[in-house]
Amino acid sequence: MRYYTRVNTTIRDENEKINTEELIIAGAPLKQLCTFRTGGEADYLARPKNLEELRVLLRWAKERSLPVTILGGGSNVLISDRGVEGLVISTVTLSSTHVRGLLSVSQCGISLDRLINYTIEHNLSGLEPFGGIPGTIGGAVRGNAGLIDYSISEVLEWVDYLDPNGNLFRYYPQTQINEYRRSFFSDTPFILYEIALRLTSHRNTSEARQRKEASRRDRLQQGQYDLPCAGCMFKNPEGASAGKLIDNLHLKNTRLGGAMVSNSHANYIVNVARDTKSEDIFALSEQVREQVSRAYGIDLEREVVLIGRW
Ligand SMILES: Cc1cc2nc3c(=O)[nH]c(=O)nc-3n(C[C@H](O)[C@H](O)[C@H](O)COP(=O)(O)OP(=O)(O)OC[C@H]3O[C@@H](n4cnc5c(N)ncnc54)[C@H](O)[C@@H]3O)c2cc1C
Repeated sequence: MRYYTRVNTTIRDENEKINTEELIIAGAPLKQLCTFRTGGEADYLARPKNLEELRVLLRWAKERSLPVTILGGGSNVLISDRGVEGLVISTVTLSSTHVRGLLSVSQCGISLDRLINYTIEHNLSGLEPFGGIPGTIGGAVRGNAGLIDYSISEVLEWVDYLDPNGNLFRYYPQTQINEYRRSFFSDTPFILYEIALRLTSHRNTSEARQRKEASRRDRLQQGQYDLPCAGCMFKNPEGASAGKLIDNLHLKNTRLGGAMVSNSHANYIVNVARDTKSEDIFALSEQVREQVSRAYGIDLEREVVLIGRW
């Protein structure tokens, strides 16, 4: 790992004072914690409120050799119907934020929407184009969320993250690292804890608010919020649009159980029934992938993250 430095933290180990029994729920349904509204239960679920609790939870899982899965806003995941093994840590209760000069510094679980509003109110600009993207800042930085030509990595200053042992490190991005929907944290077990973004100053709060609202309104008009989904199922392959490839094959409205290729955006798979299984969504996405591969020889890479016992 070339890009991190160890952070000196003054945070005390509060293990003895934190009651894990109060923090951890066994057999917790996860449907309502993801935007697909499908999937099974977590063996254990916890919502830490601070770094001490987060560390105690990591230690608790480690002592029992249980895997840990992090869930932010659940807007880019597909949770298995057979549930998630071990401990699921929901970050949404880690949501404090503040501004320091041109830096916005926030805990990972703050929603992108709240963070955008907060930065606008503090005369900082740069996040408005992300208006309407659901989820948390932690999930956004991990997946390098954004638009076609602008992603969150472009304003990233540093990230304080934890390894599975609870050690805290600081990551400073290298300017040349700006991969489409990938970050330093993709494919790592690290937990993004606190995130600093370098923004620019603006004087006109009302204009900034309008920019943000315009982004959200566009999405609304495109029907992105009409049905439960997790945004784009696949990443755009080099030089092409996954949505266009799927649309060209007339796959919109294709159904499998309660899953359907969205009528308004071919790269979205939507949940159209009350009893939809994640398995249906997965199987439909595989069908789509196979058809695109057969027609164009392109192997689409999944953007939505599979979580749990697949
Ligand atoms: C209607 C709709 C529109 C969307 N539009 C866009 C768009 O325009 N652009 C775009 O990029 N995305 C879009 N998305 C996808 C999604 O909203 C973003 O990718 C979002 O940033 C995911 O954040 P999250 O908190 O929901 O992550 P989650 O779905 O909770 O998690 C995603 C992954 O990140 C991991 N993770 C989350 N938080 C942390 C953390 N603190 N530390 C370590 N790992 C973590 C999870 O384990 C998981 O692997 C859209 C989704 C929907 C439903």
